[in-house]
Amino acid sequence: MELTAIEKLFGTVFCFVTGACIGSYLNVFIYRWPRGMSTNSPSRSICFSCGNPIRWQDNLPILSWFLLGGKCRTCKAAFSIRYALVELFTACLFAQIFLVFGLTFATGVYLLWAALMVAGSFIDIDTCLLPDRITLSGSVIFPLLVLVLDMADASEGLVVGDWREALFGAFFGAGFIYFIRFLGTAAFGREAMGLGDVKLMAMNGALLGWWRSLFVIMGLGPVLALLTVLLLRLLQRFKIERFSEVPFGPFLCLASYLSLYWADEMIEWWLALPPGATASLDQPWRWLGW
Ligand SMILES: [Zn+2]
Repeated sequence: MELTAIEKLFGTVFCFVTGACIGSYLNVFIYRWPRGMSTNSPSRSICFSCGNPIRWQDNLPILSWFLLGGKCRTCKAAFSIRYALVELFTACLFAQIFLVFGLTFATGVYLLWAALMVAGSFIDIDTCLLPDRITLSGSVIFPLLVLVLDMADASEGLVVGDWREALFGAFFGAGFIYFIRFLGTAAFGREAMGLGDVKLMAMNGALLGWWRSLFVIMGLGPVLALLTVLLLRLLQRFKIERFSEVPFGPFLCLASYLSLYWADEMIEWWLALPPGATASLDQPWRWLGW
């Protein structure tokens, strides 16, 4: 369905605001899950320092952090700017997904995916663990969602809208990174990657298909990770930032997200293929005449 300019604008603003609110909620998960805390009690956010509930007008996504100068109104304890940045980041992802995929079921699928990846990435940054609640749920939900939408003839807009491609992508993504993990562990004598990354790529593979997953694991993911580590080393050298261990999960997430939009162009550019050449990659069983 083609949207008018005003519908597109309204939808994008709506998704931005919704994304900021969801981001605010994701902050709660990111903080409470690794600490084994309940996510619904206390139902209201409380200050980690003085324990006072945060009033709703001090809990507006993105805005409140700036209005309060990053401090608790009661005790003046500093709140990390990361809370506002997670909200802003989620808002931008949501707006972009609507802008690209419009009023389709695909938009709903990708909004859910983006929210899961934001929560998973920040928990991974904090703890070097990707929670099963996110990756395992995702690797069941997304192949099923594609299957249902494909069966209902409603997979319009999905980058991978054929359930066979989704299922193959999930198995390929998980299997390939498991293979890399096996090689890495054999070569370095210690666990090279977590099983969390394997489950993450089962989830992402279902939405990306097999060859975009391969591109994420072997191409874009490692490149983004390497650039970040170099940047962090540089900052560390100038005593700006300290870091110990950099998890791979967030880079897999970022690379997966970017690949959803641009993997085709990036691969065609990289391998100097004619435009549209990647379309034939999605169903490798066709090469066998199936
Ligand atoms: Zn306080």
